[in-house]
Amino acid sequence: MKAWILEDTNGPESFTLAEVETPEPGPGEVRVEIVTSGLNHLDLWVSRGLPAPDSFPHVAGGDAAGKVDAVGDGVDGWEKGDEVIVDPSLSCGECDQCKHDEIVYCDSFSILGEHRPGTLGEFVVVPTRNLRPKHPDLSWDVAGTFGLATGTAYRMLKRARLRGGERVLVVGVGGGVSSTALQVARALGARVWVTSRSPDKIEWAKQHGAEGGFDSSGDFSKEVKGTTDGGVDIVIENVGPATWDQSIRSMRKGGRMAICGGTTGSKVELSLPALFFKQLEIIGSSMATHSQFARAVHMVESGGVPIAVDSVHDFERLPDAISRLESGEQMGKMVIRR
Ligand SMILES: [Zn+2]
Repeated sequence: MKAWILEDTNGPESFTLAEVETPEPGPGEVRVEIVTSGLNHLDLWVSRGLPAPDSFPHVAGGDAAGKVDAVGDGVDGWEKGDEVIVDPSLSCGECDQCKHDEIVYCDSFSILGEHRPGTLGEFVVVPTRNLRPKHPDLSWDVAGTFGLATGTAYRMLKRARLRGGERVLVVGVGGGVSSTALQVARALGARVWVTSRSPDKIEWAKQHGAEGGFDSSGDFSKEVKGTTDGGVDIVIENVGPATWDQSIRSMRKGGRMAICGGTTGSKVELSLPALFFKQLEIIGSSMATHSQFARAVHMVESGGVPIAVDSVHDFERLPDAISRLESGEQMGKMVIRR
């Protein structure tokens, strides 16, 4: 099959279109012929060796939708031609955590395209537990691109125990997870405000349900408190050091901050009095369980969470999509179409 492969970890320029062996499904696995796949910042990090693939050539990519093409031994309930969405969360499937659908706590938890061959080829092989049926009304462009970010955003809001009517601040709304978190939070009944350095992105967020937006590069916490009657209940963070202090200050007493990354660095300073006097909670979150992924799929299928498509790119033109992702100018998902 044709695939965009990495032979090294020198960065996104290393993606090369090549002929590789078509993967065969093992017991309990299914081969999916990919119709559309998506891009996430994770794909760029993998190309830089963060984390490094186990072997080369490596096929990156976590998001995809397609048609079942071949099934391995012992596979029940899936047939050639079934239309599916691929869940990118991989785990052993056998330990206590996996048996209780806490796959994100499995010792062998990983993400499709990180260590195992991913979705930037013509085919991908995954265990059947990583398949969700694709609703016929859902477009291929959306089906293959929303999963990783939407599942992650859904879990963050669940980890932060969002209740209807609560106030949520999404910091850096331009990112894939953040822009989806805005829509998922709205669908779950929250009132949402956002921050961004880009007035265009704030405007986009307002058109998609945000009540207001603030400039990320300034001291936005004062404005947040003034606008939200004293602060928000929940902050969705993945910017890190550049916004950390303002994000902490934006919370009211009892506030919860869910974090799934730090695009501006990995270390922050924390004021302990702010933490205990305001009784704040800082909550790490990563990816989603299979049932949370299924819930996210349902929210998108039912129209509760509209997915914005930024642009569509031919499979052969992957580097165009990667450049756009690196530029940070996109607003929504980039589709890689076969
Ligand atoms: Zn496990």
